[in-house]
Amino acid sequence: MSDNIQLFVPTYRVEETLAEIKECLEVGWTGLGFKTDAFEAEWKKFTGLPNAHFVNSATAALHLAVELLKEDGGWSDGDEVITTPITFVSTNHAILYAGLTPVFADVDQSLNLSPASVERMIGPRTKAVMFVGMGGNPANLDDVASVCRDRGIKLILDAAHMAGSRIGAVHVGNQADASIFSFQAVKNLPTGDSGMVCFADKGLDAEARKRSWLGINKNTYQRTSQIGTYRWEYDVDSVGYKYNGNSIMAAIGLVALKHLDHDNAFRRQVCSWYDEMFSSLEGLVRPVEHKGGTSRHLYQIMAKDRDSLMVAMNAASVYPGVHYKDNRAYRMYSGCKSDAGCHFARSCSDGLVSLPLHLRLTHSDVVRVVESIASFYRRMP
Ligand SMILES: *Cc1c(COP(=O)(O)O)cnc(C)c1O
Repeated sequence: MSDNIQLFVPTYRVEETLAEIKECLEVGWTGLGFKTDAFEAEWKKFTGLPNAHFVNSATAALHLAVELLKEDGGWSDGDEVITTPITFVSTNHAILYAGLTPVFADVDQSLNLSPASVERMIGPRTKAVMFVGMGGNPANLDDVASVCRDRGIKLILDAAHMAGSRIGAVHVGNQADASIFSFQAVKNLPTGDSGMVCFADKGLDAEARKRSWLGINKNTYQRTSQIGTYRWEYDVDSVGYKYNGNSIMAAIGLVALKHLDHDNAFRRQVCSWYDEMFSSLEGLVRPVEHKGGTSRHLYQIMAKDRDSLMVAMNAASVYPGVHYKDNRAYRMYSGCKSDAGCHFARSCSDGLVSLPLHLRLTHSDVVRVVESIASFYRRMP
C-alpha cells in the first residue's frame, strides 16, 4: 500500500458481511424483501423512527419524499421549497424532479441553514424547508423545525451524513416530515449504493413502497409468501419508479449498522485529534463549528488560499475534498431566488476543505495531514 492519505476509505467487516450475503445466495433471495425487511426493522429500532423504507439511493429517497409530500399537500408546480446552497446537488435536484422551485436561504458558521434566513425567505408559495445536516451536524435543526411548525410548512431532512447523529439521546429525524439517509459507499454506514426514506406519516410510507416498485400495489416478496391462489394478481396505482433496495445491499447494511455507533465514536476521536492540533495553529485554520456527539461524517476547515493549499497537500500525498461548492455556481441553480445573495455561503464556499476522515486513520496520519497544512502556511508570505 502507498502512503497516500485519502479523504474517505470505506471499511467493511468482510467475514461477517460475507456470511450475511451468503444467506441471501443460499436462500435464493437477493431482491426486495427478506434482508430489506430485516434492515428496515433494525433501522427503526436504532433510530426510533416510526417508518423506514429502504431504496436504492438517497437520491431516490429524496425524490420520493418531495414528490409524495407534494401530492399529499396538494402543492402546485412551481411552489417553493427553501433549501441550502451548500450541499450535494442531489438535495436540490429532488426539488426540481418534483416540479417545485428551490429558494436558497443562507447558512451560518455551522454550514447548516440559518433559522433567521429561512424565516426571511418564507413567502406565500413556500411549502417546505429542505434541511441538510452538514457532516452529521444537527446545529439549527431543532430551531428550523420549530419555524416550520409555527408557519405550517413541511420539513424534509436530508440526513445523508447523519446516520448515528443524535441530539441528546434522540436520533435525528424525529423533527421532520421525512428524513432521508444515504448508505452510499463513502457515507458513515457504507453499503454499495442504497438509502432510506423515513416518513413521519404511515400512509406516505405505504405510498412510497408502491411508488418505488413501479406503482405496483404488491411486491414480489409479498406475492411469493402469499398463501392461496391468485398470487400473480396485482394492480398498478401510479407511474412509479424502479427505486427499490435489494437484499445484498441490505445484508451489507445490517452488519454495518451493528458497528455504526462504535465507528462514529472513532470518527469523533479522529476529530478531537484534529481539534487539538489546530488549537496550536490558531489564526491559520478555522475548523467549522460542529456540535458534539454526532456521526462526524466530515471534518471541515475554512482555509485561506484553498486551491493552492489543496495542491500543496496533494504534493504531500494527502488528498482532502470539498463539501460543497455553492450550488448557485452551477448553471441549473444560478437563476434561483436567494436571501440577499446568501452572502455567507458564497464567501465560505471558496475556503472549505474536508480533511481525511475514515476508520483506518492513525494518530500519525492526522499529524501528517496537519503538518501538510501548517507547512503550506509557513511558506506563505
Ligand atoms: C451523498 C449525498 C446524497 C445522495 O446520496 P446517494 O445515496 O449517493 O444518492 C444526498 N445528499 C447529500 C447531502 C449527500 O451527501
